[in-house]
Amino acid sequence: MSLELVSEVSIRDVSPRDGLQAESKVLDTRAKLDLIDGLALAGVPRVECTSFVNPKLLPQMGDADAVMTELTRRSRTHYSVLVPNVMGAERAVTRDPDEMTVFVSASETHNWKNVHCSIAESLAQFQKVMVVGRQHTIPVGAYIVTAFGCPYEGVVPESALLDLTYRLFELGIRMVTLGDTVGVAQPLQVQQRIRTIRQSLPGVSLGVHFHDNRGTALANMLAALDGGVTYFDTALGGIGGSPFSPGAGGNLATEDAVYLLEEMGVDTGIDLDALLTLGDRLAEELEHPLPSRVRQARGRMVPVGREGELHE
Ligand code: ZN
Repeated sequence: MSLELVSEVSIRDVSPRDGLQAESKVLDTRAKLDLIDGLALAGVPRVECTSFVNPKLLPQMGDADAVMTELTRRSRTHYSVLVPNVMGAERAVTRDPDEMTVFVSASETHNWKNVHCSIAESLAQFQKVMVVGRQHTIPVGAYIVTAFGCPYEGVVPESALLDLTYRLFELGIRMVTLGDTVGVAQPLQVQQRIRTIRQSLPGVSLGVHFHDNRGTALANMLAALDGGVTYFDTALGGIGGSPFSPGAGGNLATEDAVYLLEEMGVDTGIDLDALLTLGDRLAEELEHPLPSRVRQARGRMVPVGREGELHE
């Protein structure tokens, strides 16, 4: 196997937002701030801190204002927030995030279930979000969720994905993250879609966001890396999943991504030991073990010179 790999990538840890919004236990603001700062101190270059959604819809994110106000800002770290609409953007800009991220589904049914409007209506909202972003010189990125497959409509046609990416580009959005919301993408499909978008819209920076429902997240990450993508979303411990997407499993675990990338000589800038310690604290706070495989394998290396032993 030979891959054309870049020498460094940029990871965005989404556990404080995508991860915690899926948890039944609501962490207090202090614990969230410790998580975000722990990620920054471990060297994670980008952290998605919270979501400016209606707190009635998502009480887990009810302290978005407090999180962004009380954040310790490290100069090397980029702090982004999710905004569902212009109301969220107007709240978010008062807290000075480094980036606002909007989100839209590539399938109509999922967009209706997720945000109760059509894709066209979401795009009309984003136009207003772009105005707010420009007024405050805060860049706006976008997630395309269900970019590969939808729990209601099945495989999403590549043409629909390309068309939606083009529409986001027309609005002035230059950073687009393709989300495999329910973990149905496979590596060849990932490479094909990345190739198509990069050829058609070279001005778009592409990121990828894989969920591991079917154990394919690492394989898909590798496919995207081989396809030239350098922006990856992961979540500490592999927590996450959308409460509005039936069957959504955990995100690709940051520990697992960092382990694989660093073992292959791709620089993430992240200290794996620091991540593992931080994950221990998170597991305690959430009161359940975290799915990351690297976390589970910790301490189970075969000692040198004892390879004759049986390890089932
Ligand atoms: Zn996710």
